[in-house]
Amino acid sequence: MPKVDNQDYTRFTKRLKSLASPQIRIEISGVVNDYPVYRVLLHQGTGERKNILISAGVHGDEPAGPEVALRFLERDNTDLLEHFAFLILPCVNPCGYVHNTRENGHGIDINRSFESADVDVAEVNIVKQAIQGQRFDFFIDFHEDWEAVGFYLYEGQRDSRWMGPRIIRSVESIGQIDSESGENELPLADGVFQIDPAWGDAGMAPYIYHLHADHVMICETPTRWHLEQRITAHLTALDTALAIIQSTA
Ligand SMILES: [Zn+2]
Repeated sequence: MPKVDNQDYTRFTKRLKSLASPQIRIEISGVVNDYPVYRVLLHQGTGERKNILISAGVHGDEPAGPEVALRFLERDNTDLLEHFAFLILPCVNPCGYVHNTRENGHGIDINRSFESADVDVAEVNIVKQAIQGQRFDFFIDFHEDWEAVGFYLYEGQRDSRWMGPRIIRSVESIGQIDSESGENELPLADGVFQIDPAWGDAGMAPYIYHLHADHVMICETPTRWHLEQRITAHLTALDTALAIIQSTA
């Protein structure tokens, strides 16, 4: 694994907190190893809205995701807020983020720990509490892959609407698509793999798919790309998904 500078969570927190506004409410969902885990509510106005859940930084050595969450919050989303309400977990694994590790401060992969009732993983409990009792129309989780040569995604849906192929077409102009499937992966289309119920609920996306959402997606950018390219790919995937949801609402 290439050596990458540790991420600065103090700077991350400062940037996040500076965004507080009538539209953006920033809350501390819990504290892990003295690091606050944030939950951000982004919404405006009343009336019917699609509920969107966004998470990033579950793996601490995948820095594009938390940066995407910040960039998304920093830009003007006025038009989107007429149709959507967002709950954002911008950095689920702050300890991993600081030390540039996939796992949390106890060497545990948070994204393999959602099912286990016998393992007490603080970050998992914080996420579960942050979304308790809520339903989401769509959940998107930003990840990165050290081995991939291009962008790809995993998708699961019960609303009869695969969005992956269209998202792949919109990301194609940003960089290569990685269609190589690994073990236990069900390819649906170029760069699109199915979130397989056979995986169980240990991962965050399968867990949320099981209990909180009818449509979920995991986006993966290749770490070998420049950071800006990875950020653009994730944001494009998110915007394309929102456009599809809006057009078919
Ligand atoms: Zn990951």
